Amino acid sequence: MTLQLFNLAGKVAIVTGSSTGLGEGMAYGLAKAGADIVGIYNKDLPSNKEKIEATGSRFLGIQADLSSVAPVQEIISKTVEAFGRVDILVNNAGIIRRNKSVDFTEEDWDDVMNVNLKTLFFLAQAAARQFIEQGSGGKIVNIASMLSFQGGILVPSYTASKSGVMGLTRLLACEWAPHNINVNAIAPGYMATRNTQPIQDDPVRNKQILERIPAGRWGSPDDLQGTVVFLASEASRYMQGHTLAVDGGWLAR
Ligand code: NAD
Repeated sequence: MTLQLFNLAGKVAIVTGSSTGLGEGMAYGLAKAGADIVGIYNKDLPSNKEKIEATGSRFLGIQADLSSVAPVQEIISKTVEAFGRVDILVNNAGIIRRNKSVDFTEEDWDDVMNVNLKTLFFLAQAAARQFIEQGSGGKIVNIASMLSFQGGILVPSYTASKSGVMGLTRLLACEWAPHNINVNAIAPGYMATRNTQPIQDDPVRNKQILERIPAGRWGSPDDLQGTVVFLASEASRYMQGHTLAVDGGWLAR
């Protein structure tokens, strides 16, 4: 059965930033496809526990501040302790800082690069080591952005980090493909979450954005569910290093 290729029953997925926005939507999508979920949250509560358990999947919440690499190994160890293995990592946690490049501070540079790129890499490394030890392959899905492809304005560290995510996705895919590990990325378009609240609230930017999206609406966290299940499943087993835009047609324009 073709649909069997998308079945994640028996798989264990770690999703960072799983309590809000896109991470919450993707964690729920993976659970509906059968995966047990380890949700990494920082200040937000693991709000989707009941929703995930209602699908029949197990849920473990781990509180961790991903602004440094300190909690990385513990995330893998606690997951293995609870569920015995790791099969999927969704590197979703991310932050953004907006300011003119002439005024941009070192703090706003470092904070964004640390969460969006440095910890993303070291969590991927820790997951890959676990996959290799298990000998069972694995799936890594990084969350990129339209600003992996475009420059944008007023978000220099965000653009640098997300362009880095796309490059790193290619490199890791090439290094780890021989271990049956697939590394790919999703580049969401303009999605209605907390991350984009300031531009949703700005009537001028909001109108400009909506006029440019062929689908005519902001994306929602539910719009990523099919894509993340695809990239986390056997259905995408011959895909390596690809960044898949889910953007209502933004880049096609
Ligand atoms: P969001 O702010 O709701 O989600 C970000 C998540 O990252 C939160 O759950 C937050 O707790 C977590 N996080 C941030 N800093 C952390 C830290 N130090 N330690 C642990 N967790 C931390 O916004 P979102 O839109 O759902 O963003 C999710 C991802 O999607 C981000 O990587 C973002 O850059 C990316 N993205 C969003 C859009 C969009 O339009 N919303 C577009 C492209 C890419």
